[in-house]
Amino acid sequence: MTTVVDLRSDTVTRPTAAMRDAMMRAPVGDDVFGDDPSVNALQEKMAAMLGFEAALFVPTGTQSNLCAILSHCQRGDEYIVGQHQHTYRFEGGGAAVLGSVQPQPLEHQPDGTLALADIEAAIKPDDAHFAKSKMLALENTFWGKLLPFAYVQQATALARSKGLVPHLDGARLFNAAVAQAAQTGSDARAEALRIAQCFDSVSVCLSKGLGAPVGSVLCGNREFIKQAYRIRKMAGGGMRQAGVLAAAGSYALDHHVDRLADDHALARRLAEGLQGLDGVNVDAPHTNIVFVDLVGAAKARAADLVPYLKARDVLTTGLYRVRFVTHLDVDAAGVDRAIAAIRSFFS
Ligand SMILES: *Cc1c(COP(=O)(O)O)cnc(C)c1O
Repeated sequence: MTTVVDLRSDTVTRPTAAMRDAMMRAPVGDDVFGDDPSVNALQEKMAAMLGFEAALFVPTGTQSNLCAILSHCQRGDEYIVGQHQHTYRFEGGGAAVLGSVQPQPLEHQPDGTLALADIEAAIKPDDAHFAKSKMLALENTFWGKLLPFAYVQQATALARSKGLVPHLDGARLFNAAVAQAAQTGSDARAEALRIAQCFDSVSVCLSKGLGAPVGSVLCGNREFIKQAYRIRKMAGGGMRQAGVLAAAGSYALDHHVDRLADDHALARRLAEGLQGLDGVNVDAPHTNIVFVDLVGAAKARAADLVPYLKARDVLTTGLYRVRFVTHLDVDAAGVDRAIAAIRSFFS
């Protein structure tokens, strides 16, 4: 381990020795011919875990969401989405650029949800003036927040009742599941299944908190996955001996789900360590992401915080808000160093 505490994202994790071992031993074949046993095993495992007929291994979460949107929607259709969701804001406008699918972005409520009344009002009547409202995209976790399960049920039921297909960008679905399990006293796998079953399709990142080097998995029914498979090929995502990567994903699903609770505990430790600082707002994190908002007089110094921390070997990002993400490759000592560095900036 280097001495750098890298809290920029949970994407920075390196595969563990045991994960590399699983990758090295993975049987492989040409997945474009459907011949890669490790890819097939990962797809079957994820589909079974989340209660879907089929699944597709894709290189990135961005391509996974693109495959989902372009499979559910045709040219001239639209999808309803939050202003700050990844599928709208952070994917280069791919659905519009590559699929001529129009996004209908909505403002978020403070808890990250989209108000049911806003969703309902955004659904267009069947009229030649309008794009056809076809899909509702939710994201869970959203900026580290667990969406309330009752809300997920209501929003997806509303979408269905209006003829829209609900899709979940579950890049961090297992973080949501672990947080929800802590509330209900149930098990993370049961909660992941419960959340996923509210949707027609779900995309999950393996390369975030689960700690795999590459990849996402898109789940849905057989017909949908057949369509997504075409889009993935068109988007250049047909991979060959991808089993070495899929094996890392399968390993992560077997060994790295429950341990996400450790990342959540470290995020709480970080947030608690920053309590009482003047000019700093820190919300109690639901999962592994801590946002630090500078307010009042401190706001003027916001641009200096990230480089200040970097000079002290604590890495973070601050595109919209300063963000610290805990993961497999940080420990309590690293978090305590980050706390000390942040506190020294304000002292
Ligand atoms: C990371 C992420 C994605 C996709 O990520 P890639 O970097 O393309 O793998 C999608 N949605 C959310 C919410 C994410 O955090």
